[in-house]
Amino acid sequence: MNPIENVISYTKENGCLVKVDMLLADCTTFRTGGKIGAVITPENEDAALKAIISCKENGVKCFVLGNGSNVLASDSGFDGVAVRLTGSMNNIRYIGNGVIECQAGATLASVCKFALEHSLSGLEFAYGIPGTVGGAVFMNAGAYGGEMKDVLVKARHIRFSDLSFGEFDKDALDLSYRHSAYSDGGYLILGAVFQLETGDSVEIKAKMDDFLKRRNDKQPLDLPSAGSTFKRPEGNFAGALIEQCNLKGYTIGRAQVSPKHAGFIVNLGGATTEDILKLIKYVQSVVKEQTGISLEPEVKYIEK
Ligand SMILES: Cc1cc2nc3c(=O)[nH]c(=O)nc-3n(C[C@H](O)[C@H](O)[C@H](O)COP(=O)(O)OP(=O)(O)OC[C@H]3O[C@@H](n4cnc5c(N)ncnc54)[C@H](O)[C@@H]3O)c2cc1C
Repeated sequence: MNPIENVISYTKENGCLVKVDMLLADCTTFRTGGKIGAVITPENEDAALKAIISCKENGVKCFVLGNGSNVLASDSGFDGVAVRLTGSMNNIRYIGNGVIECQAGATLASVCKFALEHSLSGLEFAYGIPGTVGGAVFMNAGAYGGEMKDVLVKARHIRFSDLSFGEFDKDALDLSYRHSAYSDGGYLILGAVFQLETGDSVEIKAKMDDFLKRRNDKQPLDLPSAGSTFKRPEGNFAGALIEQCNLKGYTIGRAQVSPKHAGFIVNLGGATTEDILKLIKYVQSVVKEQTGISLEPEVKYIEK
């Protein structure tokens, strides 16, 4: 058996759901990306640790995937495996006094709905961000003036280097714009604890509906994308700069700067990651030339 087959058979027998013959295009909201050795979904923390140990022992490369809503995966695929928590490890628990504990595979949509059911306010901004708790902590996801930093108390993880379980409190999480202590990789985030405030469920729902409506009105949600392609440059907005450079609708292959929202690159159907990368580079060069501002991609690139 080759090393990836070893990992597949071991993890299958040790609490993981394993999918083979998968394309990264099936696991990412951009809907691009080539073949991956396997997608491994552990059903609990113990199975997650075993999956990581097995990759290490077999010398198999592994990366962590949430809902794939902020990643761009190489057309040549990934010659290793993904540990993906969506569809499992998605429990959400109310502890009391506004505190909720979530496993990393829970979607932000389900966490927001859970908070609403318990009349808890603070996470409304996250309604409509199509990620998991793990991905949102990793990215310090945010919208409409809110970010994970405002509500996160701590997060729990496995560290790859020494295979230890541990947790980071708010300070250690080192949260800033689209950055956390996890941003350089090396950890599997297992769960997070949020501190919310007791609120009025009618007001909470109204806020959530308003944010969702604003997304529907302004964002090209009918086409595959990874949301905002670029980080917000200091004191500016990537979308506004791109629009100012007349790049709305600019197309390379089947990748396009959305005519609806210039901050989004969309897949018109049949785009390759290469099309998207070329378009990212083109937009960066035009914006730099015309405004002097460097745009940095927000999306994480997964390469073979
Ligand atoms: C239509 C659309 C709208 C969006 N709007 C917003 C927005 O308003 N604000 C915003 O901040 N983002 C937005 N995004 C981007 C994206 O949804 C967020 O960044 C989200 O937090 C990513 O979560 P994910 O589970 O999809 O992570 P993924 O995309 O799967 O992964 C992102 C990164 O996190 C790492 N990661 C994921 N889970 C774990 C884990 N358990 N342990 C360790 N590392 C992990 C991955 O390795 C990767 O590096 C949008 C995306 C789309 C498609």
